[in-house]
Amino acid sequence: MLEEIEEYAKVNRIPIMQKDGIEYLCEFIKENDIKNILEIGSAIGYSALKMASVRDDIKVTTIERDEERYKKAVENIHLFNLDDRINIIWGDAMDTVVDGKFDLIFIDASKGHNIDFFNKYKVNLDRKGYIITDNLSFHGLVEDPSLAVTKNQKGIVRKISNYIAFLDNNLEFDTEYVSVGDKIAISRRKYE
Ligand code: SAH
Ligand code: MG
Repeated sequence: MLEEIEEYAKVNRIPIMQKDGIEYLCEFIKENDIKNILEIGSAIGYSALKMASVRDDIKVTTIERDEERYKKAVENIHLFNLDDRINIIWGDAMDTVVDGKFDLIFIDASKGHNIDFFNKYKVNLDRKGYIITDNLSFHGLVEDPSLAVTKNQKGIVRKISNYIAFLDNNLEFDTEYVSVGDKIAISRRKYE
């Protein structure tokens, strides 16, 4: 069934996490005993299903603004019988109010809003929790901006570079980068 979702994503050009990236994330969840996850950007529910499948006491809240993808995600979550552990919200994550604390916040939505998502949702992060952000490389264009040719690509590269600078200069959080998938950032609160 997961292969079908992967195939659907491929055919419909939906940017779900790459295999090594999602495997790393699931391993991270297992090793750090993560139980409550907030995801920004569900798409069709692929990463939420993978994360919820790590252990049966894991709960995922996930937000998606695109109606068609949201509906597909609801369908997929139901197919996997995970309706009681994955709470999917249809809406723009910038306007959504989420209650409660999470030990992992996974940001995988529009690359231009990462700073906003980070600042908005850090109040929902458990004291010892992690914020993981996907797509820090943009297929290598961030590391080598000369590869960005279109205006759109240049804009995205600039926004991701700004986000990296924001993380590197953050007084509250420490961040490390892992080159899996399209590169992820793992941020955690500094301790006094
Ligand atoms: N995490 C998914 C892939 C997400 S793709 C997986 O790996 O399976 C990114 C998704 O974020 C897209 O479906 C897009 O519609 C959604 N998105 C972008 N900006 C958003 C926003 N402001 N609020 C909610 N969803 C958003
Ligand atoms: Mg992504």
